[in-house]
Amino acid sequence: MVRTQVAARGLRHARVLAALAAVPRHCFVPAALRDAAYDDAPLPVGYGQTISQPYMVALMTAALAPRRSDRVLEIGTGSGYQTAILAHLVKRVYTVERLPELSRGAAGRLAALGLDNVEYRIGDGSLGWSDAAPFDGIVVTAAAPAIPGPLAVQLAHGGRIAVPVGDLAFQELLVGVLGPGGLAVHAEGGCRFVPLIGRHAFPEGF
Ligand code: SAM
Repeated sequence: MVRTQVAARGLRHARVLAALAAVPRHCFVPAALRDAAYDDAPLPVGYGQTISQPYMVALMTAALAPRRSDRVLEIGTGSGYQTAILAHLVKRVYTVERLPELSRGAAGRLAALGLDNVEYRIGDGSLGWSDAAPFDGIVVTAAAPAIPGPLAVQLAHGGRIAVPVGDLAFQELLVGVLGPGGLAVHAEGGCRFVPLIGRHAFPEGF
């Protein structure tokens, strides 16, 4: 998976590739889909949600340029797969999920893998996690209509944010870096995510 789906597409961030190789993706998919766990595709994880395509997880993680000393906020815990990749790479991960069943399931999987540098919160991640801010990196794993305002202000100076932005028909992965002149944003290409549902995102039922 790492060689043929990620490195072959030009993503060469050595620490990110090593983290992908270290996390057993089959532990994060429903038992009935274990045979497809290493496919080049997103997969359903229940409650209408998905575990993202391995390459997309790698791309978003590399976009944060993660350092061992970083504190990173993830919005959309889902299965916990991206959380586990981040937990391998940085000092502490703060992850928010709106669906309690998914958050609890992810916490159980990471605990079973011995990953104990993660804080879990159930709630609306479009509000961020202000009492733990600022973050060196923020990754949103669901599509928002725009970069949620509360997240942009919870970024540390020099920090990086990756957010899929768009509607159900067209989304782009936006990456922002907070510099002296404000948030410099560029697009990393098209993507497809489930919607971010929240106060600074899409309304319930979207
Ligand atoms: N990163 C996940 C993984 O590796 O399995 C994939 C996440 S899935 C594509 C998007 C997740 O975002 C879903 O679990 C969904 O419930 C969650 N979500 C949507 N809106 C949210 C919000 N406002 N706050 C927190 N989580 C949200």
